[in-house]
Amino acid sequence: MSADCIFCKIINRELDADIVYEDEDVVAFKDINPAAPVHILITPRKHIPTIMDMEKSDEALIGRLHSAANEIARAFKLEKKGYRIVINCGSDAGQIVFHLHLHLLGGRPLLQTIAKGRGV
Ligand code: 5GP
Ligand code: ZN
Repeated sequence: MSADCIFCKIINRELDADIVYEDEDVVAFKDINPAAPVHILITPRKHIPTIMDMEKSDEALIGRLHSAANEIARAFKLEKKGYRIVINCGSDAGQIVFHLHLHLLGGRPLLQTIAKGRGV
């Protein structure tokens, strides 16, 4: 828990969000400014600022984020047409919230480029 982190506040129910999945380690909610028809943010309950900050002991947790992403993708009927998982790390990637999260994007054809923002 980091006192001034908006995602910690969402995870602790101090801030509202449209939560679509949670378990003991992971919370997932709709992005407030969606870049695709399905745009879900998948976060660990543990406050890890960026993927660069993960420790060896977080490896299983990072795997769980991906398992949750697949489960959510199935719930949103994306398994046939596919989806994209994105992690932004640091300023050049445009990371704006420093609590690790996967973006799960789908529901429309996504540009065939490794890009950030509205173009993803
Ligand atoms: P980043 O660039 O850090 O990978 O992406 C952060 C994402 O969080 C952005 O897509 C942004 O729209 C989303 N976001 C920022 N603040 C909030 C919020 O308060 N609630 C929700 N649900 N999403 C947020
Ligand atoms: Zn946090």
